[in-house]
Amino acid sequence: MKLKRIESPYLANEAGNYGEFGGAWIPEMLQPNIDNLRECYLQIIETESFQKAFFHLLKTYVGRPSPLTFAGRLSERYGAKIYLKREDLNHTGSHKVNNTIGQILLAKQLGKQRIIAETGAGQHGVATATVCALMGLQCIVYMGETDIKRQAPNVARMRMLGAEVRPAMCGNRTLKDATNEALRDWISNPEDTYYLIGSVVGPHPYPEMVALFQSVVSDEIRSQLAEAEGRELPDYVLACVGGGSNAAGAFYHFLNDTSVQLIGVEAAGLGVDSGETAATITTGEVGVLHGSKSYVMQDHDGQVVEPYSISAGLDYPGIGPLHAHLHASQRGRFVHATDQQALDAAFLLTELEGIIPAIESAHALAALEQLRFSQNDIVVVNLSGRGDKDMEAYMAELEIRLKK
Ligand SMILES: *Cc1c(COP(=O)(O)O)cnc(C)c1O
Repeated sequence: MKLKRIESPYLANEAGNYGEFGGAWIPEMLQPNIDNLRECYLQIIETESFQKAFFHLLKTYVGRPSPLTFAGRLSERYGAKIYLKREDLNHTGSHKVNNTIGQILLAKQLGKQRIIAETGAGQHGVATATVCALMGLQCIVYMGETDIKRQAPNVARMRMLGAEVRPAMCGNRTLKDATNEALRDWISNPEDTYYLIGSVVGPHPYPEMVALFQSVVSDEIRSQLAEAEGRELPDYVLACVGGGSNAAGAFYHFLNDTSVQLIGVEAAGLGVDSGETAATITTGEVGVLHGSKSYVMQDHDGQVVEPYSISAGLDYPGIGPLHAHLHASQRGRFVHATDQQALDAAFLLTELEGIIPAIESAHALAALEQLRFSQNDIVVVNLSGRGDKDMEAYMAELEIRLKK
């Protein structure tokens, strides 16, 4: 296996722009760090020793390739051939580890001994702490104080894995504040520190780099479909979108195949007009967040608004610039599912296929209700994670269902 970069009008140009989106909107003090990363990362990733180390760990530590499962009963229900890409079966339970392994191998090659990251719900923090433990690197995770209180199990996991969890005490004490703290740390420690971003967001080259590490997902789908169906191209690929990394990975090797419909599913929360939502493309406007230009959920004064979704992983007020560009260019289609629609989809998948999905991934499944298929359509749903972490939400729903 090899990480295969493709040329595509939908990916970033030299300057890191995706159409009118992307770029690197950063304080001057960060410029040297970003310049250094941009100049070396591709060279390192393309060496044979890097590729070998990356795919060795994906195989022997993560358990890749993840299976592509034909979902027979779900297919019958929706009248199409539905396949599930099983990122839920990865070590640590989601696609996030693909990216963390890539970036930590890169950090080691750059001679960095100290890894910093920010996390909202803690899932990216756990993935980072996991691989730091494996590699014996120091790991510091910034997390808003409010989030630390809300996400006790993930905080415990990170600490058990040897990471230091540092509370961000400014603002609402959530993800945005943790990001500011992490950036401040990186500015103060440019020599020995690597800043590990968990999705296809942040300043160039992060969106491009994270998409490349996650592209193993679509690379595998192509060969798995060729084997199962005698053709590499599905008719649809569906993925949930928070920052957009699992979707970017599932779309990547289909970007130039315009017969493949790329569908991103945002979290509508209580509804896109409710004020309690995380559907950025639907409700956001063009703005700058986390060093990159994209759609951002903001108020009339341009202040970022707190998003809401039942799923912690989709609860983000921005979206990666790749997806903004896919939307603006109409190469991708972005729909949304509410909390309840996601819960219903999670229960349906569990009943029909014996798979309890992450509540994030359930949003992608919920979009099956909104599409009209022909009998022979091949539909791939990226099952980004497993549902163990969401049992509290599922137990509450179960309670309601048992009373009916
Ligand atoms: C973090 C997470 C997401 C959302 O992140 P993306 O970068 O949009 O992929 C989706 N699904 C699961 C299971 C996650 O843990």
